Amino acid sequence: MPRIIVITTGGTIATRRGPNLAGAIPALKGEDVLAMLPRGGADLAFEEFSNLPSSHLTPVNALDLSRRVAAALERPEVDGVVITHGTDTLEETAYLLDLTLRTSKPVVITGAMRAATSLGYDGLANLAAAVRVASTPSASDLGVVLVFDEEIHAAAEAQKLHAQSRAAFTSPGTGPLGRVEGERVWIARQPVGRQQIACQRLEELVDLIRLTQGADVRMLRHSLEDGVAGLVIEAFGGGRVPPWWLPHLSEALQRRTAVVIASRCGAGGLGDEYGYVGAYHDLRRLGVLFAHNLSGPKARIKLMVALGTARGLNELRAFFA
Ligand code: ASP
Repeated sequence: MPRIIVITTGGTIATRRGPNLAGAIPALKGEDVLAMLPRGGADLAFEEFSNLPSSHLTPVNALDLSRRVAAALERPEVDGVVITHGTDTLEETAYLLDLTLRTSKPVVITGAMRAATSLGYDGLANLAAAVRVASTPSASDLGVVLVFDEEIHAAAEAQKLHAQSRAAFTSPGTGPLGRVEGERVWIARQPVGRQQIACQRLEELVDLIRLTQGADVRMLRHSLEDGVAGLVIEAFGGGRVPPWWLPHLSEALQRRTAVVIASRCGAGGLGDEYGYVGAYHDLRRLGVLFAHNLSGPKARIKLMVALGTARGLNELRAFFA
């Protein structure tokens, strides 16, 4: 029987509403969840990392979690790891784990959109499906995957795009890697262009700014004057900014602030053929880095990891090549 370690971090999958509580909070322990899970299929052991809503977690916590997962996977008797996590920042933790973990064993992250005391609690079904994927040899070498509402998603691609639905996660532009259909795990495709960075520390001072029509530069100026190490700009379309942003981005680069352009569209890569001011050609000329298909929040995680690891500009550029 495959041996799977379930590392719990909190989130709605662990929440219940108590008689004296104002609302549901993370309260369930591994043993509580184990008691509810159907038996058989895998030999499970639970370890608690934290019991927090994911809005309370940071990328530094996610890097600590990555070390904890790596230590579990090094044990020869362990066949895979499942992580339970709040959905709000699950995509960031999943991507950080995917970037920093080097393993061919399955690593699966899951959560729930309904509390354990609600009708329609989806935590057990998601956890059982996650354990099934982690126990499946064909899920090896996929990198970190999300299992949610019977779908399997690549960590670099999945985003929480619905605030309420139990089908909260989507991989826009690419679709899921596969599905869990009853007892069967069906992998339809491999993730493309996965990247790994051996990371010992993160650069925490990295801001994300989303462009809006007519956006002025106050937030950008504030970040620069605060001395951030890196900035991710969620630009328009395939990578375009208003003309009045260019001198400030140029100043950021002169100050040796790393600037990464992502798209605010949610899917698709960067690049265009426009010749007007502020389009992709201008950004390329300035020498910014491009996040390609990564969402803004994931590009921020990557820049934190890359800045914490790179020994110079060339290495930093290579991470975004
Ligand atoms: N509040 C939750 C969290 O920890 C939301 C969830 O898990 O669905 O992110």
